Amino acid sequence: MSAPAPHPSSVELATRLGATSAVATVVANDTISPTLRSITLAHEDAVALAGEPGQDVMLYAGEHDGQIRRRRYSVRSVNTETKEFTLWIATTHDGPGANWAREAEVGSTIDVVGPRGKIPLDPLADWHLFVGGTVALGAFYRMAEAIEEPGRAIFIVEIPDPNDALTPNLPEGIGVTGIFVDRDGRAPSDPAGLMSGLAAFAFPPDTGHAYLFGEFSAVRAAKVALLDRGLSEEQISLKAFWRAGRGNADHGEPVKD
Ligand SMILES: Cc1cc2nc3c(=O)[nH]c(=O)nc-3n(C[C@H](O)[C@H](O)[C@H](O)COP(=O)(O)OP(=O)(O)OC[C@H]3O[C@@H](n4cnc5c(N)ncnc54)[C@H](O)[C@@H]3O)c2cc1C
Repeated sequence: MSAPAPHPSSVELATRLGATSAVATVVANDTISPTLRSITLAHEDAVALAGEPGQDVMLYAGEHDGQIRRRRYSVRSVNTETKEFTLWIATTHDGPGANWAREAEVGSTIDVVGPRGKIPLDPLADWHLFVGGTVALGAFYRMAEAIEEPGRAIFIVEIPDPNDALTPNLPEGIGVTGIFVDRDGRAPSDPAGLMSGLAAFAFPPDTGHAYLFGEFSAVRAAKVALLDRGLSEEQISLKAFWRAGRGNADHGEPVKD
């Protein structure tokens, strides 16, 4: 039996982006923390779809005003042998992406375009500072796993629930510092938690790179704080993943105006 074909607009989009489109099969869907589900997708082209550490895929999330709506999720890990990749998806809110993740049954299929994303690990950095929210944990941990020894990974992540403090399993040669900041009922756009995490962190003397992925206002405030602390623009990679109070646009990015 031949594999189901992706939606024609997914084929067109993938061609335009130089990416791959596919209809992948859900092979696992597990709750891994109060906020996150881990969903594993299988497809012959899984390795191509998953791209490099830091990259993401676009999932079909229904139609809206006659337009296809897509949602973007970073690849947490990829298994080249089984041709599967895993996403960690936040599902505590109401939105087409989160609702799909909550309900996706093993054996069901989903239209995927990937890889997307232009923020790789900086190969020249001695230390890597990952700052953001639970939505970023999948991207952060896959990127950290790509750090060459002896490197250093520092995570400053705000979590809405103490049981969201999922930890990575990195090689012994990688130095790890993890600061999980309890959101403590603050709004996700309130940068106070990330600010206190950053204040608790002393920059090592050698060269570092910061990756800021998370809620729109929170990561922008974190960037200003890092510039104030002496990092240069070139040492900071920022990507807003979502925006509090506003659904992402149909192409999967937060609205910027
Ligand atoms: C490059 C990229 C990579 C991403 N990687 C991941 C990832 O690995 N894992 C992941 O979970 N998300 C990731 N995101 C974020 C995810 O795409 C957004 O959260 C998206 O808005 C979810 O779509 P939705 O249909 O569930 O909600 P939407 O329809 O976009 O929004 C509906 C409502 O829910 C709110 N909302 C949206 N997201 C959240 C949230 N996380 N927490 C609380 N409220 C929210 C909105 O403000 C809005 O009020 C990524 C985004 C980008 C751009």
